[in-house]
Amino acid sequence: MIPSILPTYNRAPMAFTHGDGAWLTAQDGARYLDFGAGIAVNALGHAHPALVAALTEQASKLWHVSNLYQVPQQQRLADLLVDHTFADTVFFTNSGTESCELAVKMARKYWSGRDTPRTQIVAFEGSFHGRSSAGIAAAGSEKMTKGFGPLLPGFTHLRWGDHDALHATLDDSVAAVLVEPVQGEGGIRPMPDHCLRGLRDLCDRHGILLILDEVQCGMGRTGKLFAHEWPGITPDIMMVAKGIGGGFPLGAVLATEDAAAAMIAGSHGSTYGGNPLACAVGTKVMEVMTAPDFLPEVNRKAARLRQGLESLVADHPDIFDHVRGTGLMLGLKCRIPAADFVQAGYAQHLLTVPAADNVVRLLPPLTLTDDDMDAGLERLDAAAASRVA
Ligand SMILES: *Cc1c(COP(=O)(O)O)cnc(C)c1O
Repeated sequence: MIPSILPTYNRAPMAFTHGDGAWLTAQDGARYLDFGAGIAVNALGHAHPALVAALTEQASKLWHVSNLYQVPQQQRLADLLVDHTFADTVFFTNSGTESCELAVKMARKYWSGRDTPRTQIVAFEGSFHGRSSAGIAAAGSEKMTKGFGPLLPGFTHLRWGDHDALHATLDDSVAAVLVEPVQGEGGIRPMPDHCLRGLRDLCDRHGILLILDEVQCGMGRTGKLFAHEWPGITPDIMMVAKGIGGGFPLGAVLATEDAAAAMIAGSHGSTYGGNPLACAVGTKVMEVMTAPDFLPEVNRKAARLRQGLESLVADHPDIFDHVRGTGLMLGLKCRIPAADFVQAGYAQHLLTVPAADNVVRLLPPLTLTDDDMDAGLERLDAAAASRVA
């Protein structure tokens, strides 16, 4: 008999009742250290006092109004995002996949009214852009698309790191390039800075819109507010979600005025997008992350964790191949099945997340303390040791 919850996930047996910072408490009272953070969602940890206050204060006033009216909470968050990024304008969604939908629509609309309309979007193998029809067509992997055809047409997929194919494919017929600056689901694969700069140049040369999917790598995860700030480029359109809501469902599409110019009244919409509850939380997340000390601390902790992980890998050469990633978006490339290591972590009350390419993802809350980090490194070591015995 089919379970009452559609069985699209292989769930671990733990159920959590509450959280506090980097820690989760299970129904049986056991405390787990959360190095997955809801897959980069709980960027400020669990039950961050400022987020709890922002949500409960808004919840006591007004939960929802239609986008038929002014939504001041939305205006505040949009202004904050515009102030701190390349963007001139923002549309709020409820998830990453909805951000993908709009990014694709916006790019197509941009070209639709022109003398030589373009529709083709170039994306990359190993990418992940969500589970909507546009999202799975954009990522293109058979694991996600099989049986769901006919797929949304107009996507070309290039191998990660295949510069020849990139140069051969990007010409004046391409509407947009869609890429994660750091692939998350694909196994924590950062695109090197010089490649991102080269990609931006190629797009400029051919008038192609550059869409960055920063759903996982954005919102402070790499030690900058957005990952593209490291190579010093800017996209035309950017997808955001996950960390921006700190655990409340919220996403956004950020764009330049030029890229967004065709999105006139009536061209897109969302019932819940930019809901006052979500925007009250999102505003607080942005305020916390843009405080002067926040990102320097993320970078300090990232360097410390990286160092600990390098020792871990050196101590367990039969379990791990190498550390990869950037900021607090780190991956352990494994020599045993990554899913087995994640299981071994559960036994040590440590939560990590498997990814493609046999990588275990470490995405701790950006607010983790040095003590949390040391506890995490100890548990990783214990999990690795348990696999040898
Ligand atoms: C998680 C993710 C998405 C999809 O976000 P949802 O909120 O699950 O729809 C899209 N792109 C990237 C890079 C992601 O990590």
